[in-house]
Amino acid sequence: MAVKRDYYDVLGVPRNASQEEIKRAYKRLARQYHPDINKSPDAEEKFKEINEAYQVLSDPEKRRQYDLFGHAGVSGVAGGAPGGVRVDVDFSGFPDLTEIFEEFFGFGPKGRTRRRRAERGSDVQVEVTLDFEEAIFGTEKTIEVARWEPCPRCHGTGAEPGTHPMRCPQCGGRGEVQHVQDSFFGRFVRVAVCPRCNGEGMLITTPCQECRGRGVTRRTRRVAVSIPPGVDDGTLVRLTGEGELGRNGGPPGDLYVRVQVRPHPLFKREGKNILLDLPINVAQAALGDEVEIPTIDGGTVKLTIPPGTQYGKTFRLRGKGAPDVRHPNRRGDMLVTVRVVVPKELTPEQRELFKALGKTFERTPSPQDKNFWDKLLDALADVLG
Ligand SMILES: [Zn+2]
Ligand SMILES: [Zn+2]
Repeated sequence: MAVKRDYYDVLGVPRNASQEEIKRAYKRLARQYHPDINKSPDAEEKFKEINEAYQVLSDPEKRRQYDLFGHAGVSGVAGGAPGGVRVDVDFSGFPDLTEIFEEFFGFGPKGRTRRRRAERGSDVQVEVTLDFEEAIFGTEKTIEVARWEPCPRCHGTGAEPGTHPMRCPQCGGRGEVQHVQDSFFGRFVRVAVCPRCNGEGMLITTPCQECRGRGVTRRTRRVAVSIPPGVDDGTLVRLTGEGELGRNGGPPGDLYVRVQVRPHPLFKREGKNILLDLPINVAQAALGDEVEIPTIDGGTVKLTIPPGTQYGKTFRLRGKGAPDVRHPNRRGDMLVTVRVVVPKELTPEQRELFKALGKTFERTPSPQDKNFWDKLLDALADVLG
């Protein structure tokens, strides 16, 4: 075990220093070596040493023990303290460094403070249902959102108008209570949130009739939401600061609008791409054709179906898809998938033509047509069956 430095040396004060001098020296050193501020590798060790020294020297009884017996007088070393008294000290009785730090600077090593801490409001999520086209091109929506707001009757105090909150008798309005613990080395004070007023410092004697003393009421507001182009099912649109209000001066939370998209009778969506199934007949598939197909923009485009087009063939129309939600100028593609429809019923004329056609094919279809004719035969079997 390393030899402990003299506590007076640690704090840099003379042995006859006053409590005020000790306190000042501690504050200065604690700021200088606080591990959140001082990034040198030994800062934490140093900070602990400073705190330990201060815990002893700031307490008149412990300081007296230290002056008389040195470290052995306050360290609880097993094997007997001077004067033949065996001392077993439970060091958990020391207030932790956080509490000491908070007491002096009003904030803890990790930014904690004991009470009336500014708290950010919670985030709120609501759903909005859009038409397929609205999701693709963006839209403006007004939605209703409920959140807790200061009660208009009591202006957030929770007390019925005309009455006043009472100072909490248990903590005297401080919002915290001290638990004093005496031990051999002196008196330790632990501070806790007052259980009677929950740290508020005030008690409401006549609760407001509207909010029943809570100080807040649930209010529904109308919020305008600008939905950007390219959103999809499940997209979250964030409205900064439109969530629940913060507490004690904290910032409000955010509002998340979760998008749901109604299905479209023709189009489907796959990320930035828009999918369309295009039914064509057997003659179009075999001979080829030029067809007009609808686009999401509202117009039509010409699509050339080459002769011998197979069932399930997909054509890509570049730039006819949905915009990228992050880069609205970049649009996805439209993927048109051909479904060859085999007629379920034939007119007598068509029947004769199909018969004549059938005779021209060999019994075994050529390899490149196998897929097509398998499906055709399956479909015919379905019709017949
Ligand atoms: Zn009220
Ligand atoms: Zn209280």
